[in-house]
Amino acid sequence: MNELLKNLTEVDGVSGDEKEVRLLIRDLIADHVDEWHVDSLGNLLATKKGTGATNMCVLVDAHMDEVGLMVTEIGSDGMLKFAPVGGFNPLALLGKVVQIGAKKITGVIGAKPIHLLSGSERDRVVQTDAMRIDIGAKSKEAAASKVTIGDRAAFITEYEELGKTALGKAFDNRAGCAALIELLRAKPFSFDLCAAFTVQEEVGLRGAQVAAYAVKPDAALVLESTPAYDLPNEEDASSNVALGKGPSIYVMDRGTIQDPRLVAHITRTAAARGIPYQLRQPGGGGTNTASIQRVLGGIPAATIAVPGRYAHTPTMMINLDDYANVVRLAEATLRDLTPELVNRKW
Ligand SMILES: [Zn+2]
Repeated sequence: MNELLKNLTEVDGVSGDEKEVRLLIRDLIADHVDEWHVDSLGNLLATKKGTGATNMCVLVDAHMDEVGLMVTEIGSDGMLKFAPVGGFNPLALLGKVVQIGAKKITGVIGAKPIHLLSGSERDRVVQTDAMRIDIGAKSKEAAASKVTIGDRAAFITEYEELGKTALGKAFDNRAGCAALIELLRAKPFSFDLCAAFTVQEEVGLRGAQVAAYAVKPDAALVLESTPAYDLPNEEDASSNVALGKGPSIYVMDRGTIQDPRLVAHITRTAAARGIPYQLRQPGGGGTNTASIQRVLGGIPAATIAVPGRYAHTPTMMINLDDYANVVRLAEATLRDLTPELVNRKW
């Protein structure tokens, strides 16, 4: 059992409320870094000093937050209205169990039983603004004694391993957090490694922007989980990657064209070390790379991701070999990184 993935995915950290994740990571890295602090947004920034062989500073980012819900209104019947925090397909929500706020009040996202649905209702997708979270309260007062407006609701999913497949919530992006923790536990790099466990990625790549300004890195590597859509599919032309085929390397997404020199360096490194990889087909989606590469004078940045099925639902799946290879590839990429690679001369 991968205890690191288990522990990281079983805590809650819906965007803007990442404290549980942050405290856990702080305890996991404190003995392996030279300095750490938390900035005003809640990013956990840590420095692992290099050997002094180069004077570069490289930012490695992994966002701590996960998608979830926020209580927006308590109804007179004790039912909770909510807004999505991050992107959701409403189909993923009905009937799912959540825990709300610091008191971790259990609730279920209510659904009309199929027995009572009319013919036309069966064909319609219920939108999130028509859904309610039911915490078993009979009145507004009863509900308000347990939860408050602004509380986050997080999914509850126990981590499990089914052979090489791991099942759990929030691999997007606790898989990236776990990989970054492993890098901090490795021997020092030739440069200062500035680790940024960032907040609020799922609502607009916000924490990473602040972190990049603060760190002023010479280059950046973003560790992520990217959606895999590799189920049997008649016309397989989706912009996607598959489980078990190795780390996924971004070339372009909605927010970036990744630094071509870094992408070439990563693929070269993978080939030289015999690490499998897959180029994610350019297309939609986005990562913190978009925020980082555009601040200050521009920062060379690239992304390595663990493919994950069922992203932004209560239950994701990743392949544990892919995860291990992301750690290997990220470490090898950083070990072989030189100032010559980072300083653009053309
Ligand atoms: Zn993510």
